[in-house]
Amino acid sequence: MKYYSTNKKAPMASLHEAVVKGLAGDRGLYMPERIKTLPQSFYDNIDRLSFHDIACTVADAFFGEDVPADDLRRIVCDTLSFDCPVVQVDENIYSLELFHGPTLAFKDVGARFMARLLQHFIRQEKQERVNVLVATSGDTGSAVANGFLGVEGIHVYVLYPKGKVSKIQECQFTTLGQNITAIEVDGVFDDCQALVKQAFLDPDLNAHMRLTSANSINVARFLPQAFYYFNAYARMKALGKADRMVMCVPSGNFGNITAGLFGHVMGLPISRFIAANNANDIFYQYLQTGVYQPQPTKQTLANAMDVGDPSNFARVYDLYGGRHDAITAYISGATYTDDDIRETMRECHARTGYVLDPHGACGYRALRDLLEEGETGVFCETAHPAKFKEKVDDILGTDIHIPQRLAEFMKGTKSTIQTSRQFDDFKAFLLKE
Ligand SMILES: *Cc1c(COP(=O)(O)O)cnc(C)c1O
Repeated sequence: MKYYSTNKKAPMASLHEAVVKGLAGDRGLYMPERIKTLPQSFYDNIDRLSFHDIACTVADAFFGEDVPADDLRRIVCDTLSFDCPVVQVDENIYSLELFHGPTLAFKDVGARFMARLLQHFIRQEKQERVNVLVATSGDTGSAVANGFLGVEGIHVYVLYPKGKVSKIQECQFTTLGQNITAIEVDGVFDDCQALVKQAFLDPDLNAHMRLTSANSINVARFLPQAFYYFNAYARMKALGKADRMVMCVPSGNFGNITAGLFGHVMGLPISRFIAANNANDIFYQYLQTGVYQPQPTKQTLANAMDVGDPSNFARVYDLYGGRHDAITAYISGATYTDDDIRETMRECHARTGYVLDPHGACGYRALRDLLEEGETGVFCETAHPAKFKEKVDDILGTDIHIPQRLAEFMKGTKSTIQTSRQFDDFKAFLLKE
């Protein structure tokens, strides 16, 4: 399978090239040249298949031409070492819990898959080790570091701003050891990102070591997220609730929802999608007006969705041939303030006992507001509420339980390399690696 760039000005790439490069040469996002429809018999029997079997079928449609079946099956099964269950919250609203992975957020799925696919390609090359550089303001670093932990042939450097990430987030990438190095930068997130970008352009560093990124726009990170939409449909079908199923996705950079939309193109019978935004409502405004207008990022309670220029909009646009009417026919939007988020978390907790995190709260609320008679809604609960324990306890007046695997991280010993925000310091460190 070849991959083209959404900007259409870069050459087509193989899967291998698209995974190693991340972004196309013209700064567009890679798209598979064909999206295969799955046979009706698959959908007829899907409720009798396991999550692993469903994911293997979907993975084969995406990657089967480029990865041998046995290898692909192993990569999928290693990736999905945890379940993504559907849990009833309200009479007609269900939560697709995507937080049962190692770092308690849905990004575990894409990060784990990408690590294993990259390893598969590196083994074929028999080349020197690959070094992944990733800048993080918190969540991405933990998903990528844990996704790549212990994966042979790959070393990960996580750059994060000193004193600017929460303790819970920090311990998820500073206590791992092995092939993960955490680098504490005396600066802000933008400094970390600038160091990474400059490193990719630096001839000395590139001569010294093989560098790559694990950015969320990478096809190997975003496509595998389709697995759990197929599984959600299967589990809802088994409950007899899939006839008019609406999927609602709390969205920031729009990678997660785009994977679900790929499912639809492959024939997955989900009636429609809702993209739930926080106050960063660029997509919502696009749906209303047909004009895509990036905005400065606003800080909100659901901070992983604080994106003012969502990268994957280019993929949604491309998927529907740039037709606003085709996009609005299948996807609707919603936007919520921090006050809406707090109120929704309190209302849901008081009435149902279910603890939403601030991101999932946007998804649940959009279903409450927009679900029509006869429809059943499923929203993505994108992170475990304990990842935001202080905020959640403050809003709900609770003392929520911290899951064992999160508590384990907090017991570990922190180990970091310190650097200034000057590129020369960072470079000198990498040249000694
Ligand atoms: C990253 C993230 C999102 C946003 O997902 P996108 O794929 O960027 O739209 C939502 N919720 C949580 C908890 C996240 O970490």
